[in-house]
Amino acid sequence: MNPSFGTYQLAEEHEALREAVRSLAEKEIKPYAAEVDENERFPVEAHNALVKAGFAAVHVPESYDGQGADSVATCIVIEEVARVCASSSLIPAVNKLGTMPILLSASEELKQLVMPSIASGEAMASYALSEREAGSDTASMRTRAVLDGDHWVLNGTKCWITNAGESTWYTVMAVTDPNAAKKSAGISAFVVHKDDPGFSVGPKERKLGIKGSPTREIYFENCTIPANRIIGEPGTGLKTALKTLDHTRPTIGAQALGIAQGALEAAVAYVKDRKQFGKSISDFQGVQFMLADMAMKIEAARHMVYVAAAKAERGEANIGFITAAAKCFASDVAMEVTTDAVQLFGGAGYTRDFPVERMMRDAKITQIYEGTNQIQRVVMSRAVLNG
Ligand SMILES: Cc1cc2nc3c(=O)[nH]c(=O)nc-3n(C[C@H](O)[C@H](O)[C@H](O)COP(=O)(O)OP(=O)(O)OC[C@H]3O[C@@H](n4cnc5c(N)ncnc54)[C@H](O)[C@@H]3O)c2cc1C
Repeated sequence: MNPSFGTYQLAEEHEALREAVRSLAEKEIKPYAAEVDENERFPVEAHNALVKAGFAAVHVPESYDGQGADSVATCIVIEEVARVCASSSLIPAVNKLGTMPILLSASEELKQLVMPSIASGEAMASYALSEREAGSDTASMRTRAVLDGDHWVLNGTKCWITNAGESTWYTVMAVTDPNAAKKSAGISAFVVHKDDPGFSVGPKERKLGIKGSPTREIYFENCTIPANRIIGEPGTGLKTALKTLDHTRPTIGAQALGIAQGALEAAVAYVKDRKQFGKSISDFQGVQFMLADMAMKIEAARHMVYVAAAKAERGEANIGFITAAAKCFASDVAMEVTTDAVQLFGGAGYTRDFPVERMMRDAKITQIYEGTNQIQRVVMSRAVLNG
């Protein structure tokens, strides 16, 4: 018998972590979730609680004073926070997204500069790849970086930057060689500090969901940073940025999973309580089958997300398919499950008196960011066709 059969389960540490994060999320994050959404404000209570408990950036290795949690553990933290507040789950998620290029490719000196401040919670990190005219087509970006003696000078605008204005550190992809034969080989990655001269942030976008997580443009106007703030070699920036996504797409899957789980639980409680035709609506088979489908899809998504995270953790080759599949499947499930949860609440589900409409609005972004689900399907079909 294959001895690995018995090990296809989460470690006890993972289950203990889930319990700890769930307890913290219930007590210190959930009570503010509706008001954070209503007032479109940064969830400071969640941020403080996550930092205090050491859950704001669990992925940071121990060598940089972090928790050194593995990728599955990081997903569990994000999932459990998203179960009660998707906006708050972007604190651990984007801390990983913003620092992964550094962990993958930066010099030791740069890692030492940034990572301990993320581990302690003193700072957060954002990831700046997208531009207005370069969304899915990332290589067509226009932000420029030019080496001037011992400094890089950046000019341009990045848009849709999650947690901009709250973050201290920004991983920024910019063109360093506009004449490169392949556009992607002319892009480099940099680390910018919020106080660097020539850096500023724009107003908050007015969004459908994840309203507690600020999304802004960021501006570089002759923004000057020391030469050693480049991540890796010139020309490797887009490669690093895309490799980062292999590690973080499972985290978006985890966020989607958490949102879906929260919506399912809310729906189960409601259908048991709500009476029509003289009985609980949970007695109707039409309702029961909806719940069964919701739970089934969530379970499938959960396995896919953890498997993708574990493969990324092990550094397996060719993880493009599974990480894209996990993000795509879990986010499609989140959209379906939250929409069905609103349906099961009837008219009440359509009001802000119950959390499911917020969850449905929040779920939508998981199909769009870190590559739209069409782009995930591009990645998957390429892998399928190329074998
Ligand atoms: C709230 C929010 C937070 C975000 N946070 C960040 C962040 O922190 N950092 C960051 O860098 N970016 C961030 N983004 C940007 C996000 O990753 C992009 O919005 C996304 O990649 C899509 O780019 P786009 O908006 O330009 O859409 P477009 O690329 O213009 O796409 C429009 C439509 O065309 C489809 N499409 C495009 N190309 C193809 C193709 N080849 N085949 C099939 N369909 C295609 C898309 O799937 C989509 O449906 C965020 C966006 C939002 C809304």
